[in-house]
Amino acid sequence: MANWNQAMEKREILWAGFDVGGTNIKAGLVNSSGEIVAWRSIATGRDKEPRAVFARLRRLSDEMLAAGQVPSGQLAGIGVGLPGTIRQQDMLLRRAPNLGWRDLDLAPHLQQLGVMPVYVDNDAHVAALGEAVSGAAQGYASFLLITVGTGLGSAFIYRGEVYRGAGGLGIELGHTCVAADGPRCTCGNRGCLEVFASASALVDWYREQLAAGGEIPSPGRPRPGAADIFMAAGQGDHLAQEAVNRLISYLALGLANAAVLLGPEAVVVGGGVGQAGDILFRPLQEQLDERLARMGYSPVPVLPAKLGNRAGVVGAAWGAARTNL
Ligand SMILES: [Zn+2]
Repeated sequence: MANWNQAMEKREILWAGFDVGGTNIKAGLVNSSGEIVAWRSIATGRDKEPRAVFARLRRLSDEMLAAGQVPSGQLAGIGVGLPGTIRQQDMLLRRAPNLGWRDLDLAPHLQQLGVMPVYVDNDAHVAALGEAVSGAAQGYASFLLITVGTGLGSAFIYRGEVYRGAGGLGIELGHTCVAADGPRCTCGNRGCLEVFASASALVDWYREQLAAGGEIPSPGRPRPGAADIFMAAGQGDHLAQEAVNRLISYLALGLANAAVLLGPEAVVVGGGVGQAGDILFRPLQEQLDERLARMGYSPVPVLPAKLGNRAGVVGAAWGAARTNL
């Protein structure tokens, strides 16, 4: 994190970035180098009405400015990442299941944030912009970002811009079908990649196998999460290894499909699973390379995201900065 006093002495122009999730809201003030100079994280709260959520964003922004004694003239814009599909041309949020929002006109709510220019985008899109400006994707003009967590988020940056497609919503790799008769997905379709290759899918499959094997979880013992399963796999637990291998083979399949369709220079993997290290990245890279080589395509490097849970804040602020340019 950049030095706050340094930023103030130089009277840098700052942008506020927000990353709104179903559980937490992360906020930061970001300078023109993409460095975070102030940081806040709060619970999204039980009241997820749009008016209440945007009021929290306004309060966070005011608090950060007051704490750093930043004159309002130093704040040049605000960027917001939301966990949903957003049509930017008319600021219409189509669906944000984690917030319970649907077909919401964002314009009046963005006005709650003040008179600043406001940029708003999907959370995976802003995470990709963050990784592009100061993370793993620096130096790549066209890359694919996937976030492997509770769900499977995705964004494609094409020649430095978020690729949105004709409908304006961008790509949804997590909801491409990889098994026509597969299990039902939260989106309503069957056999989506997200059903096989998200952290939730990993955990669900592992628990199902444990239960099928007759293992009853002892009361009081926490149920294993994705990080526990990766750790157990690293320590030689066969079932955990099987669960991880299953996740990796589906991810490789999905990434190979995306690579031949979109032609990215690199793939950046974020979200909780993106921190798994070699146990994930080595076999994932091998399997992706094998699939691409069979089709005569060059290998595509698969890289761990660098900014962790800060990518969205940096990217939202950067999106606001670019909008103002
Ligand atoms: Zn789906």
